[in-house]
Amino acid sequence: MNRVQGKTCIVTGGGVGIGHACVQRLAEEGAAVAIFDRMDAEGQALADAITHDGGMARYWHVDVTREADVATAINEAAEHFGRVDVLVNNAGISGSTKLTHEITEAEWDLVQAVNVKGVLFCVKHAIPHMKRAGGGSIINLSSIYGLVGAPDVPAYHASKGAVRLMSKTDAMIYAPDRIRVNSLHPGFIWTPMVEHHLQASGATDIAAARDEVGKLHALGHMGEPDDIAWGVVYLASDESKFVTGTELVIDGGYTAH
Ligand code: NAD
Repeated sequence: MNRVQGKTCIVTGGGVGIGHACVQRLAEEGAAVAIFDRMDAEGQALADAITHDGGMARYWHVDVTREADVATAINEAAEHFGRVDVLVNNAGISGSTKLTHEITEAEWDLVQAVNVKGVLFCVKHAIPHMKRAGGGSIINLSSIYGLVGAPDVPAYHASKGAVRLMSKTDAMIYAPDRIRVNSLHPGFIWTPMVEHHLQASGATDIAAARDEVGKLHALGHMGEPDDIAWGVVYLASDESKFVTGTELVIDGGYTAH
């Protein structure tokens, strides 16, 4: 129950999907959680529910592509909760399904702005607070597609490859400050993102498409948000104090073959 007791955690994209589960599990395990998202109703409802149940959480409207907004929200969260120990860079979009020879510059840039520059801005402005706290843990949501390729969504795959190496670079830069940085690589997890992606890819029978994609995993089905959230709790907690610069793969065996 107290795996992250006393820590303040920022979770970007915490309103729905994987981020929502991360917020819930971190709060249950004793953390104060700052929820950053653009989905105000969902983010505020989650913060209210946690507070109602005796936990600590507060919602901030943040678009991670806007550096000034990120800086302001991180500083406010640090002031409100007294410190920043953990940053979960979860906000992300799958973006255009167009292939490499079709995608426009704007479509490419949008994905990199959220998935890559958003991570940069959040890390950049969280680091000074973590240094002040004497250390920290940064958890960057990459993907199985930061490890292996697939013949679709090229901008998304490029962004997740970038996140993997940004994590290793920052792990080395900030190790002397006792700040750990790791990437987390989910297989397909049933969330609004995956449902929208299946629709955008032309699936008409969503249940059948879910089953079909699930079969790409050795375990034969998609994962659920808590499968990732428990990995986040581990990386956020001191249980992982000797873990940095690594890749935590939670993918039901997708990349095992
Ligand atoms: P989701 O679309 O269900 O939720 C994403 C959340 O991020 C939403 O709350 C959304 O509002 C928020 N967000 C998007 N753009 C934002 C912005 N500019 N600023 C602030 N918040 C923003 O997605 P998900 O499936 O829960 O995915 C979460 C993360 O996990 C993403 O980085 C995704 O790439 C990664 N991931 C997901 C899967 C999967 O199968 N679901 C697999 C591998 C990696």
